[in-house]
Amino acid sequence: MSGANIHELDLIAYGITVKTVHRNPSPAQLYEHAIRYEAGSSIADSGALVAYSGEKTGRSPQDKRIVKHPDSDKDVWWGPVNVPIDEHVFRINRERAIDYLNICERIYVIDAFAGWHPRNRLKVRIICSRPYHALFMQTMLIRPTSGELAEFGEPDYVIFNAGRFPANRLSVGMTSKTSIALSFAERQMVILGTEYAGEMKKGVFTIMNYLMPKRGLLSMHCSATADAQGPQSSVLFGLSGTGKTTLSADPKRRLIGDDEHVWGDDGIFNIEGGCYAKAIDLTPESEPDIFHALRFGSVLENVVLDDESHRVDFHDTSITQNTRGAYPIEFIKNSKVPCMAGHPTDIIFLTCDAFGVLPPVSKLTQEQAMYHFISGYTAKVAGTEMGVTEPSATFSACFGAPFLVWHPAKYAELLAEKIEEHKVNVWLINTGWSGGSYGAGARIKLKFTRAIIDAIHAGILATAPTQPDPIFGIHVVTEVPDVPAEILIPERTWADKSEFAGTSRKLAGLFIANFKKYESGSAPGVKAAGPEA
Ligand code: ATP
Ligand code: MN
Repeated sequence: MSGANIHELDLIAYGITVKTVHRNPSPAQLYEHAIRYEAGSSIADSGALVAYSGEKTGRSPQDKRIVKHPDSDKDVWWGPVNVPIDEHVFRINRERAIDYLNICERIYVIDAFAGWHPRNRLKVRIICSRPYHALFMQTMLIRPTSGELAEFGEPDYVIFNAGRFPANRLSVGMTSKTSIALSFAERQMVILGTEYAGEMKKGVFTIMNYLMPKRGLLSMHCSATADAQGPQSSVLFGLSGTGKTTLSADPKRRLIGDDEHVWGDDGIFNIEGGCYAKAIDLTPESEPDIFHALRFGSVLENVVLDDESHRVDFHDTSITQNTRGAYPIEFIKNSKVPCMAGHPTDIIFLTCDAFGVLPPVSKLTQEQAMYHFISGYTAKVAGTEMGVTEPSATFSACFGAPFLVWHPAKYAELLAEKIEEHKVNVWLINTGWSGGSYGAGARIKLKFTRAIIDAIHAGILATAPTQPDPIFGIHVVTEVPDVPAEILIPERTWADKSEFAGTSRKLAGLFIANFKKYESGSAPGVKAAGPEA
């Protein structure tokens, strides 16, 4: 390999015969290619590359497939999250992807790492046809130095992204033109029929969610920050839109990562080398670090620009509500590179409760922590169509069911062990509604949620006064510096107390109904830690 050009690579071993293969091109080169070859691509006035993912502007969880193979069959949590396909169908999909890649004029390869921990890092190869996808994954993975690239060798996993080309709906197990298929035996993933770049990033996370627990390490759908002085860290779990990325961009802390981490014997480490922030309604005032990170070298997805000035209108959701920006982690001033830190002192579960009944912050016992981790509750605001304002509850195990490979109990056991061993405080924070459900109340102000998190980090909340919630049993914190005491107890913020009680019982009922599917497998005490029937 010595003396060879690290930016050249032969893909014949994969059956890819395209002559022009660009390996780990510079961002400037990828900008040039995106603008030259992809209709619609542009540069925002901030310097970010603006690209469009086409029809799919979000993930397609129903189209994820895992190859059923004797080596991993017993490990996988088969069901709606992990739908099996056989090896033969996987090979048909892969051949289709390679056939498509072979008719492209040029191919991009990104060789990079997943996992900052030297002993647990994975070598990942992305093979794709769009410069936008290449820049996205170069941003999101951990970028190798030129020396590391020269010595990269064979990757551990390969992702073939032929998202421009559809899957064959007549293949057994294909239910749409979209397919995201993963084979642990072949150590490959094939993407067809979606150009949403987030599929690749969450594909890598799914792979880590398989491999890490196999080694006794806990992979987590969370953001993480570290103390500015000491090695201590804290993690924020939460489903999409609950505030992982927003709240981890915190000038008082060092950023470890915004979305995917692993907790091992010597602390935590980020899986990624970049962040992927929601861009809807982004302003420099409320989220300055993220706003300023969206500069040259970043990718802005599905946003609308002014034709003349190329200023981004972050309020424009005409393409999608899920507008996004991807930037290298070092674009956040306070990031800690390498992205590793000591054991967490605090675990925070974020929920965006659109019913407006969960308190802004409560302390959880170990059993309650397990109950809420397995439940993984958040709520979505139903579409505004036809005047529907009723929120809808989502329960997603471990705050990330779509990315789990093992049964949720595997992750829950690892978490319980670590909470016990490191005497970690666990908190439930509602970043959602206050003063009424969606439609009547309002979302809790970001500055109040930030003040709550500051107080946790300062160690103030560990000794703050609490009172038990009559329905959920969690210990509601009643005093937080810089947060008005009247908002800390939700009932007080509702004008109609009986409506509050009814909504609270309704949400409790949804928790109870959801937990039924885990009752037999859960540890003693965990069920009793939920709301009372
Ligand atoms: P994903 O897993 O999809 O990346 P995420 O958990 O990282 O989701 P964020 O990108 O942080 O979610 O999104 C939170 C959104 O909610 C942001 O747009 C943020 O501005 C907004 N928001 C409003 N009020 C709050 C609050 N009190 N706390 C946190 N976020 C808030
Ligand atoms: Mn995020």
